[in-house]
Amino acid sequence: MDVAVVGGSLGGLTAACLLADAGHSVTVFERSPAELEERGAGIGFLPATYRYLVERGVALDTIAVTTNHIRYLCRDGSIGHDDEHRYLFSSWNTVYRRLLGCFDRSSYRLAHELCAIDLSPLVASLAVGATMANLSTKSRRLFDALGHTDPPLYVIFFVLAGADLELSLLPSLGVLGAAYVLCRAAGKLGGAWLGARRGGFPVASQRLFGFSLLAQAGLAVGLVLVTRQRFPDIASTVTTVVLGAVVVFEIAGPLSARFALDRSGESGSETAAPPRAVP
Ligand SMILES: Cc1cc2nc3c(=O)[nH]c(=O)nc-3n(C[C@H](O)[C@H](O)[C@H](O)COP(=O)(O)OP(=O)(O)OC[C@H]3O[C@@H](n4cnc5c(N)ncnc54)[C@H](O)[C@@H]3O)c2cc1C
Repeated sequence: MDVAVVGGSLGGLTAACLLADAGHSVTVFERSPAELEERGAGIGFLPATYRYLVERGVALDTIAVTTNHIRYLCRDGSIGHDDEHRYLFSSWNTVYRRLLGCFDRSSYRLAHELCAIDLSPLVASLAVGATMANLSTKSRRLFDALGHTDPPLYVIFFVLAGADLELSLLPSLGVLGAAYVLCRAAGKLGGAWLGARRGGFPVASQRLFGFSLLAQAGLAVGLVLVTRQRFPDIASTVTTVVLGAVVVFEIAGPLSARFALDRSGESGSETAAPPRAVP
């Protein structure tokens, strides 16, 4: 994989060395026009900082010195805390030079500054959520905490989006809006049926999946806001059609999801109808 690392200091260089060792093609972009030096004097040398060098055979005692005591002084110079504590110290320059020596110098580009990343804030945020939920064991706590704080943000988000709906345009966009609603519903029902069929789901469930996917709100509204920024010429039409459809699908979506769950027997409702065989 081609990897770009932005920032060629200790953190960037360590990441670059590890990724290069893992077989990736890594380029480091550092905005400084000259090789870095003199950032801090002695630095507390932590395992995360020296592990790479030690694993590459660098003897720790050649790049670090050890202290055996830690002592905190009070403002008046008296000793507030003194304890035995083994600590390693190195110098910033030493660590930087050693790391730079482990990396292909021709892929370390000085005087290169990253000015902007043209990423969709929507897709980037989705990617962050998906990555954290799937790779971080601690993400559940974060999402639980966010779950208690998001209602006011939803209110702001939807009020701002609703403010863009031009009611005067609704009648003139009736055909377009109806076509959008019908095509979206057909796509959801047909696509989900095809996916379920190819995925080998029970025949009785195949036609029901699409009904549970009809609701539409957050992402569509977010895309509308992006459209307003990127394509101002068509923004009014897109906004009116999509927000009008959101109203339709937010009313019909939950009802249709309930229908699908009841029909599939997964709603837990005692009155749920047994799954019906679909020919
Ligand atoms: C006085 C002092 C004492 C310190 N003591 C300690 C210590 O005891 N222990 C310790 O661990 N740390 C200490 N530090 C902090 C130490 O500097 C950092 O630990 C270390 O440098 C962090 O490295 P880094 O790669 O994370 O970030 P940085 O060193 O801040 O490097 C970021 C790099 O990214 C580059 N960059 C930023 N934006 C862009 C862009 N848009 N495009 C291209 N390049 C970009 C910058 O030019 C910079 O070189 C000390 C710092 C100072 C100033």
